[in-house]
Amino acid sequence: MDQQAKTIFLNGIVQGVGFRPFVFRLADEMGIKGRVNNSSRGVTIHAEGDNLDLFYRRLLKEAPPLAKVMTSRSVLAEFENCATFEIVQSEADPDVDVFISPDVATCEDCLKDMADSRNRRYRFPFTNCTNCGPRYTIIRDVPYDRAKTTMSDFPMCRTCSIEYRDPQDRRFHAQPVACKECGPKVQLFDTWGHLLPGFGVDQLTQGGIVAVKGLGGFHLVCDARNAQAVRRLRERKERGKKPFALMARSVEKACSEVVIGPEEERLLRSSAAPIVILKQQLKLAGSLPMDIAPGIHTLGIMLPYTPLHHLLFEGPYDFLVMTSANLSGRPLIYSNEVAMETLQGIADYFLIHNRDIYHPCDDSVLQVIGDEAVFLRRARGFVPLPILMSSFQVKTPLLGVGGELKNAFCLAAGERAFISQYLGDMEGYENLQRFHQELQSFQRVVNITPQALAYDQHPNYQLTQFALEQPYSKHSVQHHHAHLVSVLGEWDRTEPTLGIICDGTGLGEDGCIWGFEMLYGNASGYERKGHLEYLPLPGGDAGAKHPLRIAYAYLKTLLTGDEWKKTEALWTALSVNERQILDRQLETGFQVFQTSSAGRLFDAVSGLLGVCGKVTYEGQAAIELESVAALFLHQRRRENAGWPQNVARLYPYELSVENSQCLLKVKALFANLVCDFLNGVSRGEIAYRFHQTIAQAIVDLAMQFRRVRDPLVLSGGVFQNKLLTEAVLKLCQAKGIEVLRSRALPPGDGGLAFGQLLIANEVL
Ligand code: ZN
Ligand code: ZN
Ligand code: FE
Repeated sequence: MDQQAKTIFLNGIVQGVGFRPFVFRLADEMGIKGRVNNSSRGVTIHAEGDNLDLFYRRLLKEAPPLAKVMTSRSVLAEFENCATFEIVQSEADPDVDVFISPDVATCEDCLKDMADSRNRRYRFPFTNCTNCGPRYTIIRDVPYDRAKTTMSDFPMCRTCSIEYRDPQDRRFHAQPVACKECGPKVQLFDTWGHLLPGFGVDQLTQGGIVAVKGLGGFHLVCDARNAQAVRRLRERKERGKKPFALMARSVEKACSEVVIGPEEERLLRSSAAPIVILKQQLKLAGSLPMDIAPGIHTLGIMLPYTPLHHLLFEGPYDFLVMTSANLSGRPLIYSNEVAMETLQGIADYFLIHNRDIYHPCDDSVLQVIGDEAVFLRRARGFVPLPILMSSFQVKTPLLGVGGELKNAFCLAAGERAFISQYLGDMEGYENLQRFHQELQSFQRVVNITPQALAYDQHPNYQLTQFALEQPYSKHSVQHHHAHLVSVLGEWDRTEPTLGIICDGTGLGEDGCIWGFEMLYGNASGYERKGHLEYLPLPGGDAGAKHPLRIAYAYLKTLLTGDEWKKTEALWTALSVNERQILDRQLETGFQVFQTSSAGRLFDAVSGLLGVCGKVTYEGQAAIELESVAALFLHQRRRENAGWPQNVARLYPYELSVENSQCLLKVKALFANLVCDFLNGVSRGEIAYRFHQTIAQAIVDLAMQFRRVRDPLVLSGGVFQNKLLTEAVLKLCQAKGIEVLRSRALPPGDGGLAFGQLLIANEVL
């Protein structure tokens, strides 16, 4: 019979996901000879035998669950008369072009190994296999091989290397494979440096705060039902009111505290194992302490995703607080030395190990909004998955540096764009250092060396300074234009599109602070078609931390003399001195910025209603306002089905065209809202009406310029507000408007870099 030979090239996520073992088993089953190797271009197979076409088809069809073949081809090759099928060592190649897998939560099979007292990995905290375990966080360079990960410090023992080389074994070519004999070791210390036995379960049970080294960095951990421990952690961490994330023993246990829908359950159980924002069950008895998420109606919950997490749950608790270990405003801690030094005075114990973390990575955070998962933070479990574009071609390798808050940068070349993990706010020196460090190492992992860059137009951002110092050509991008194009890029659309961008802060072309914008455009350019009317923001971004002052400035500007006089009762929380300073600022305009920010509009209402007087974390005033509204809705639904969805009264507002731009005017909105409040209407009802009103205003604004069948982009951090976004989606659906939202990136500033980059790509 005619013997054939073929070379098959497969690219995508095909390394570190058990792809070569899968190829080996398939070849074995089909009697095919030859070899497979990881190359810098993905996986390359030399195959000889009959049925090569079927072999190729089955390779694509039956690939392992974590693999994603993105491109593939099969070409005729020279027949070598191979006697066996082999897996050969990776070859080094400077032109690396392969995708690295994100980290993967511990799989069911590994959990079984850990639970079996006869298994040699019984209770072993680094159990993993080709289907699970650390990936991105331990990779120093490509191609993905043990030598290029932080597991290179741990030579495999005899038994492990037998498993590693046995094609029938689940750990065949699993790079981080290890056991008790040869693998990393966990150690527990107290604050004096005394070594203690165990994994910290007793310490947690007794109310201790343990700093635990995880996949992407340290967590501070305590028993979530222990109110004293939770309060101590909040005080020591100087965290203000920012909610703590929880790790729950199981979905079943979590159901006692939060409402979990099918999509949310799928996310919780997914191999990325992110934090999912869930609505709290409304009940009195047996609930978690208020200090976990003060003033809000949701909880962020994730499931155990490393072997060590599963060992922590040998304790009697069902929920652990698991908050990223960093000092306020500083980057995530990921090395033993820094943790032991910096977390003195915060943690009572340190549960550390000697496998290094190479790419620090926070937990990802998602929320289901309008039946789809929306990223609030994209990091562990998702990075470094690329966005593949077909309508955009990045000819010169490019860097988008991203925004100043919730930063993530983006590198792109050809049809591939890689967004870094969430790196936090670029305000302090250390965060900027982290940015530099990751920028260097991320370039190696994704094999893109930028030759040009894009940055935000704001002249005072630290990253603007960084951008201007770089030796390449550069292009500055308007903030909200980048938000619009980021979504268009995700949807692979190039034609000009209408977008409503609602977010906190971004510098506009006219020097004002923009943030509630109707833009029409694409990567080549945009027109500002409308916006929220300008209102005075005393103190600019610093003033944004005081919602009541914003409310004061807005109302004093908008209301007539008589209306203003009636509001006296609202300002009792402001001192005489504060009011005098505000009055003078508003008269002279000194340090007063004109803003159309949507974030500040929500802040003002939150301050006005006394929901949030001082902001201790970004977005707090708006998040608490949404919570007050959501609780109201929940209670009303319970009492009287049907209301308020059907008969909700909206506040009046005005759309007026000035200089060919459509302005959303909110004088009547505030006058009526204040009137309601002074007449004793509940805060919840007012907050609910306000959300519905803004949703209607967004759609009305869009209808002014939208042509039939045009889609509408919704982007910006305010669309992380579930109540608002779902109201907008409902109105759009009723009008038959196709909505484009972020799906692979956060709608807030975490997705900004991608938009910046695509805009610069058009210009440069
Ligand atoms: Zn596994
Ligand atoms: Zn071993
Ligand atoms: Fe923004």
